[in-house]
Amino acid sequence: MFSRILIANRGEIAVRIIRACHDLDIEAVVVCSQADKDAAYVQWADEAVCIGPPSPMESYLNIPRIISAAEITDAEAIHPGYGFLAENAHFAEICRECGITFIGPTPEAMRLLGDKVEARTLAKKAMVPVVPGSEGPIENDQQALKLANEIGYPVMLKAAAGGGGRGMRVAHSDITLRSAFAAARAEAEAAFKNGTLYLEKYIERPRHVEVQVLADNAGNAVHLFERDCTIQRRHQKLIEECPCPVLDDQTRENLCKAALRLIQEAGYQNAATCEFLLDRDNSFYFIEVNTRIQVEHTITEMITGQDLVQWQIRLAAGEALPLRQKDIHMQGVAIECRINAEDPARDYTPSPGRLTRFMPPGGLGVRVDTHLTPGETISPYYDSLIAKLIVHKPSRDEAIRTMKRALREFRIEPIATTIPAHLEILSHNQFVTADVDTGFIGRNMS
Ligand code: ADP
Repeated sequence: MFSRILIANRGEIAVRIIRACHDLDIEAVVVCSQADKDAAYVQWADEAVCIGPPSPMESYLNIPRIISAAEITDAEAIHPGYGFLAENAHFAEICRECGITFIGPTPEAMRLLGDKVEARTLAKKAMVPVVPGSEGPIENDQQALKLANEIGYPVMLKAAAGGGGRGMRVAHSDITLRSAFAAARAEAEAAFKNGTLYLEKYIERPRHVEVQVLADNAGNAVHLFERDCTIQRRHQKLIEECPCPVLDDQTRENLCKAALRLIQEAGYQNAATCEFLLDRDNSFYFIEVNTRIQVEHTITEMITGQDLVQWQIRLAAGEALPLRQKDIHMQGVAIECRINAEDPARDYTPSPGRLTRFMPPGGLGVRVDTHLTPGETISPYYDSLIAKLIVHKPSRDEAIRTMKRALREFRIEPIATTIPAHLEILSHNQFVTADVDTGFIGRNMS
């Protein structure tokens, strides 16, 4: 096992990884930018290295500075968290060349699954259903038009290197598809320096359901059931829950087994999430694999009792998975609300600023993952996630009730947050009856 791990990330996920390290008796080193160097959470690490100015390009995305920080602090492994370099195969490769363990999959697996076109091909090989669509990349708008007319509108153009909902466009006709093609390509080019696009049938009113998987270096793999991440704004998750409230046992088993087949076909090691769209007739279609720890991993931890970040570390250290599928069970219902520094009344625009008040809720079954304390400043340079509020209760009704209570307790001043939006969603009859799809916020929230 490692004795020191460097955390190449910031904020709540840095705190989450520091905790996993300390629970395993491992020392944690964090890198931080000048914007974060006085942040309270940095003091929880055993050592901190300031690696540069606030701009991510000069700090959290700067590979030479991160590798240097690992070398001067004698860290044997790097945990990338999520975002920043977490799905950068080149970074994982450099870690390997420098003799530092990257806590995640191999660069080869990351590259294979990070290309969504290749991941689709792999899924088909593993007999996992994919959304009807292109066999490979779509080269030009003529090819897109031809395929769209074959599979029928509406269709969605997506970026092969996509993430964060960027480079995605829905088209309902030949005319909109032509302009969508140019727009999606330009956006993908700007966001990922890779304009490769592919095309999928646009599934109307689906749910987003994903499966958590763990795999070791010896070919053992288990799933830890599903998460339902249907409540999204602009294709970005806002509320997640497990189990998926509408899944029957047989569909659950088929879905989880499909995820395992895919991960094993890829020869994958470490933690991964296979994402699917669930249609209203319970058919499911693979959309992508995330090769990192996800923001919403917490709800899986609550219902299974498994510490996923510890597992990532143990698997990266070469431990064999002692878990067997029959030993993993779900207990109760867990819901996570992402508390973002965003103003839901102004189309979720970021609302950075200094916190005069920050009073998280508590009580039985309430977990708050955050890096903030009163007096700290939320920087405009980074992600707007300021806390994850997680509730775990025996039933969905109780989980919703306690979540509302906890949201009302949470005091964050003076900035705008997503708390009012969460309260509105959790009180909505369609959420309560689990009759939602990924367009729920767009249609129902003013
Ligand atoms: P990203 O990697 O950019 O997050 P994903 O492929 O994971 O993109 O998709 C994000 C979200 O976009 C999904 O959860 C879903 O809401 C929507 N989406 C993606 N593909 C489709 C599709 N073919 N039909 C309908 N909605 C889709």
